[in-house]
Amino acid sequence: MADNRIGRIVIVGGGTAGWMSAAMLARALGPAAKISLVESEAIGTVGVGEASIPQLRNFNAFLGLDEDAFLRATEGTIKLGIEFVDWLRPGHRYMHAFGPVGRPLGTTPFHHYWLDARRRGTAGDDFWAWSANALAARAGRFGRVTPGGAEPLTWAFHFDAALYARHLRTYAEARGVVRVEGRIVGVDQDGDSGFLRAVALEDDRRIEGDLFIDCSGFRGLLIEEALKTGYEDWRRWLPMDSAWAVPSRDDAPPVPYTRAWARDAGWQWRIPLQHRTGNGHVFSSAWTDKDAAARVLMDNLEGEALADPRLLTFVTGRRRKSWNRNVVALGLASGFMEPLESTSIHLVQSGLARLLALFPDQGFDPLLADEFNRQTEQEYACIRDFLVLHYKATQREDTPFWASRKAMEIPETLAARMALFASSGRVFSRDEDLFKESSWVQVLLGQGVTPAAAHPMTAVVADAQVDGWLDDLARIAGRAASSLPSHAAFLARAETRLAG
Ligand SMILES: Cc1cc2nc3c(=O)[nH]c(=O)nc-3n(C[C@H](O)[C@H](O)[C@H](O)COP(=O)(O)OP(=O)(O)OC[C@H]3O[C@@H](n4cnc5c(N)ncnc54)[C@H](O)[C@@H]3O)c2cc1C
Repeated sequence: MADNRIGRIVIVGGGTAGWMSAAMLARALGPAAKISLVESEAIGTVGVGEASIPQLRNFNAFLGLDEDAFLRATEGTIKLGIEFVDWLRPGHRYMHAFGPVGRPLGTTPFHHYWLDARRRGTAGDDFWAWSANALAARAGRFGRVTPGGAEPLTWAFHFDAALYARHLRTYAEARGVVRVEGRIVGVDQDGDSGFLRAVALEDDRRIEGDLFIDCSGFRGLLIEEALKTGYEDWRRWLPMDSAWAVPSRDDAPPVPYTRAWARDAGWQWRIPLQHRTGNGHVFSSAWTDKDAAARVLMDNLEGEALADPRLLTFVTGRRRKSWNRNVVALGLASGFMEPLESTSIHLVQSGLARLLALFPDQGFDPLLADEFNRQTEQEYACIRDFLVLHYKATQREDTPFWASRKAMEIPETLAARMALFASSGRVFSRDEDLFKESSWVQVLLGQGVTPAAAHPMTAVVADAQVDGWLDDLARIAGRAASSLPSHAAFLARAETRLAG
């Protein structure tokens, strides 16, 4: 019987998406497939993407990467969540912390007991007093193990994306991935099926493949320029289309969380790494011009700029199909929804996991691609809704941008979630929902959506018992956070562990 397996995989692009794909496919397929990666140093990479979510730890673990070695190789730091400043109204701040806040009692989620106790006047307003992650973040502390047997924290990383790509390149090349330097100028396509047969380089080389992974960035060299797949534009909900990015020097110890300040026509990030701080101002060119946006960034830098700011432009949305014929698009080639919740690199990871689950043979059963596209569409839509929530649920009307966000029409799926939470405090995550209940609850509450009523099941437990339990939980979370070493001490120890 003829061997029908995919024997040659060509990855186009050597940014974070390209090298993540190379590393994961090499690890998963071993010598079963010949993997080539084509990239062009002259074109370069997008060069941003420095904040992650906890799932990246699973990706690194799948590859067998040591976490301390990863932190060292990428000048990485720990991220326990994102602090949102001035989003609800100027002067207000809240945190979307990773991990749980409190814990459920029976089948009823924690926040209902907090809501009920707050209504009775026995619990404070600070919902995050029950999040060890948020408390440790505020205190600038981190440790992998929480003394006293409390639940460990939930963490992700800030890292230098270029160094991460280099780290993964070393890994992938050691496992047989062949890097090809050169600019792709064309593709060979089968006349009947439209399937790609090869990519053509400007020096006339041709790289043939059975399966092509398009990681060529925003332009989507294969998925769009060759296959004309189409793009769903989400700017009516997410109007950010530009960002200025600049690194700065920071003499203060790095904090273990990302900061996101709302600005007049967008927002500004601050991501502390070991060797520098990443800063950016994401804005909508419909509400401000690029020179004014650059001034906002530079006027609000803490510390000295280490370079001139760099402008990036994009269209929020997603490719209509991420898998089209024998091309699977990952990373920016498959879509981009702005970096507010650091979801882009995760979408590369989840796309790869999905590809492995639905891995085709040379027959390319269209049902596999259909299922891949269905799941991807759902995942994007859930993330989109979560991002839109940050803009829609605001009290701000002080600038035309914020007034327009507050007044905008939102996807029905989000409107339904917000209405359900506002009336009854209930929120559910769906199959492809990256963000689970704890994330939704934190951002809903943080953005001022306060339920009219707590779950009636809270009445099953006597008030005094609930109050005692809430006090205990807050004490445990507080003790867990305050017993951890400082984030700086943790990073120094990670270095020592590697040296030892
Ligand atoms: C402002 C901003 C902030 C972001 N912040 C975050 C964040 O905090 N967290 C997060 O998860 N994500 C973030 N992202 C997204 C993140 O940067 C990307 O998801 C990630 O870097 C992957 O990019 P990529 O590899 O798809 O594309 P790119 O980095 O653009 O790589 C494209 C590759 O394709 C190659 N290429 C293109 N055309 C050709 C050709 N003709 N021939 C040969 N090679 C070619 C290029 O040389 C390059 O190697 C951010 C994005 C932006 C714009």
